[in-house]
Amino acid sequence: MKSAIFEKAGQIIIEEVEKPTLERDDDVIIKVVRACVCGSDLWSYAHGDDKAAHSENSGHEALGIVEEIGSAITTVKPGDFVIVPFTHGCGHCDACLAGFDGTCDNHPGYSNWSSGFQAEYVRFHYGNWALVKIPGKPADYTEGMLKSLLTLADVMPTGYHAARVADVKPGDKVVVIGDGAVGQCAVIAAKMRGASQIVLMSRHKDRQEMALASGATAVVAERGPEGIAKVREILGGGADAALECVGTEASIEQALGVLHNGGRIGYVGVPHYNNRPLGSTFAQNITIGGGSASVTTYDKQILLKAVLDGDIDPGRAFTQTYSLNDIDQAYKDMQNRKTIKSMLVISE
Ligand SMILES: [Zn+2]
Ligand SMILES: [Zn+2]
Repeated sequence: MKSAIFEKAGQIIIEEVEKPTLERDDDVIIKVVRACVCGSDLWSYAHGDDKAAHSENSGHEALGIVEEIGSAITTVKPGDFVIVPFTHGCGHCDACLAGFDGTCDNHPGYSNWSSGFQAEYVRFHYGNWALVKIPGKPADYTEGMLKSLLTLADVMPTGYHAARVADVKPGDKVVVIGDGAVGQCAVIAAKMRGASQIVLMSRHKDRQEMALASGATAVVAERGPEGIAKVREILGGGADAALECVGTEASIEQALGVLHNGGRIGYVGVPHYNNRPLGSTFAQNITIGGGSASVTTYDKQILLKAVLDGDIDPGRAFTQTYSLNDIDQAYKDMQNRKTIKSMLVISE
């Protein structure tokens, strides 16, 4: 089968590799229908994060058709159309039961992230609970609907996670930091949860317009102290919640700066800092939550229905579509902000 390979920073190639096979009794082999490039893939491609040369692609979001199932799989069968999340919750540990399947207690190692999804087939481990069934088959849906369904593998639940862990409630004043696909989805999530004001921090006109169409009530282009002052002016004071969707220290500073004392941060940008002491937030009484999204929980409880009912349209973040062969262009265009998020058509 064809798979994208991370050749080196700035270069993704396509290679013929072995098709994955069942390795454990709770594995599922999936024929990929749609996949995409994530903002987090760009950390190694464009921003200097170390990743081994000529290694597996870091793609981790897909829609697909179940091709083969392990002997312990009872929830899906060959032919089923599924959302293939970037996480693998078991569905029965304390973390999963508490609604934190993105960091399932039963998963070994540093994280339970998927990888290798920019390919024709993937092996999905811990498949019994984590996969999310979509009614019907891909041909039943418009391309726009497929785009929205694809966001349910990562960015929409991730944006929703920021809003949930920041406990966004009806009437809240919310600030979203980051105008990429996750930031756009955080705007949608804040609106779903009833925020009365949603300010997006963004310097890009196309992204500002998209967020305004999704429910943002204002945009602020300024950064640093100037940006914080502008937000406070618009809100007539500090925000109740800040949703941090970037992953840098500067964006956390921004989040802390826009909140009133007692405000809440939900952070879902993959952190590129690692400061453990919490003392700096004591004087402000800040509540901080964040981590990998509870993809399966949110999809099953609320997001799949919201997409199928046409209540939300997160797929608009996919502003360009590519074939798997054009994967390098898909990365480059995202890096150069020619597209907010790149979708890959792998099969029909
Ligand atoms: Zn992602
Ligand atoms: Zn679990």
